[in-house]
Amino acid sequence: MSRIIGIDLGTSNSCAAYTDEKGKVHLVPYKDGSSTIPSVFAVDDKGNELIGHEAKRQWQLNPKNTVYASKRLIGRNYKSDVVDTMSAVVAYAMKESEAENEVLISVAGKDFRMSEIASRILEKVRGVAADYLEEPVEQAVVTVPAYFTDRQRQAVKDAGDLIGLEVLRIINEPTAAALAYGVGRSLNEKVIIYDLGGGTFDVSLIEIRDRVFEVKATGGDIFLGGLDFDNALIRYVLEGFKEKHGVDLSGDPVAMQRIKDLAERTKIDLSAREKVPFSVPFVTMTAQGMPLNIELEISRELFQQLTQGLIDRSIGVIEQVLSDAGLTAADIDEVMLVGGQSRMPLIHQRLTDFFGKPPSKAVHPDEAVAIGAAQYGHSLVDDTNLRIQLLDVIPMAIGLEAAGGRFHKVFDRNAPIPNAKAIMGTTSFDGQASLAMRIFQGDAPDAISNEMLGDFLFEGIRPGPAGSVHVEVTFDINVEGILTMSARDPQTGKEMTTTVRVRQN
Ligand code: AMP
Repeated sequence: MSRIIGIDLGTSNSCAAYTDEKGKVHLVPYKDGSSTIPSVFAVDDKGNELIGHEAKRQWQLNPKNTVYASKRLIGRNYKSDVVDTMSAVVAYAMKESEAENEVLISVAGKDFRMSEIASRILEKVRGVAADYLEEPVEQAVVTVPAYFTDRQRQAVKDAGDLIGLEVLRIINEPTAAALAYGVGRSLNEKVIIYDLGGGTFDVSLIEIRDRVFEVKATGGDIFLGGLDFDNALIRYVLEGFKEKHGVDLSGDPVAMQRIKDLAERTKIDLSAREKVPFSVPFVTMTAQGMPLNIELEISRELFQQLTQGLIDRSIGVIEQVLSDAGLTAADIDEVMLVGGQSRMPLIHQRLTDFFGKPPSKAVHPDEAVAIGAAQYGHSLVDDTNLRIQLLDVIPMAIGLEAAGGRFHKVFDRNAPIPNAKAIMGTTSFDGQASLAMRIFQGDAPDAISNEMLGDFLFEGIRPGPAGSVHVEVTFDINVEGILTMSARDPQTGKEMTTTVRVRQN
């Protein structure tokens, strides 16, 4: 059997890990010695597709045809807050697909579906691993944020299908990080995983009992990630420039790209230094042709002021997760930091204050997720009976649209998976031949404010007067958090099963 690698498909960077013949886990090194590959896809002016470092390197020169942070858009409706927010900050163009609701990204005159872009990145990661291991890579465990909906998980599976990579299991990033921390250590602990990456924030409270990893509660914020910390600094710089020179740089893509790049580098430097110069020479010109520069110095204190609201939000999510699990900060044995943005010193400080102890240094924030995924992949083929048992939950309620647009929950947030539940549907008019349901995932009381997962249609209902015909509809969520629905007429035994998908035409 071929090896199962673990892939961390990140918003900013992706990486892979594998298990060697002795059962030890390693990251797959890239040729420059680092192990991360930027999750960036681009098409250059000659029509060549570039992925990873090659794509990131030419980003400033070719911003319109360089796609980054696409993970924020995968499995999302075109008409959604995420797409509106992203449109305002990225230089690439997005549009709605003819198939309902999907987001397409236009790169060099060609439209790409989100799962196609993810497949390019997966293909690059797989290729790097296959070259290094000198063997074909056909199966992987791929991680996603715990906060991903059913539809986002489906889209990642689709990305694997597109390149013939069998995604054996999708597991949650915080759960993978907990594996990297706990496998083989015979622990009995409750841990919090604080995962603040480039684009999303996830918190999971996980109870580890030797090889059993049970997620007690999970929460997150899809609008919270390293990019938002960059944006806080970018806004400050733009406002200052406008005040000083009366020029709004936000409509100038080349200037914006230079400012964005420098904002991220400055932010990272501020994790290690107290003050960092912020200088963009010749950023634009006056109407008279005079060059204008940005010359600033950003202190850690100023940056902390600009971003403390973002950190407050992350603490609010932790409070919610603790309350969902019926626990308090004092019940937590260890706090693990994952994701590049969690390196910010103020985050360490705030978490130390909140939990009364500093975060653990036992896992590497950039590596833990891929390592945990590889450990899990290995345990799937390990015949030494050392199977890891993962008990996960769904991050948001799943249910259907009921009368008056209300959201009728079938599963609550943090319901354990796998899980199945049946509800009884009844015809509402005489001779009704089909039963349609719109399925949503989210925590809002009205259905439409949640993420639509798709339509479910059960056809061929026996004719009869209103209210006399019943259909038993079963919602089945598998271990990966993916929903399948089936319906059955209890009288005739007629059945049908489908995964719930947003209609493709
Ligand atoms: P990830 O998705 O885990 O690769 O996280 C990447 C994010 O972490 C990006 O927004 C980076 O700018 C940010 N990041 C990386 N290193 C640091 C650092 N030392 N301090 C603050 N943010 C960082």
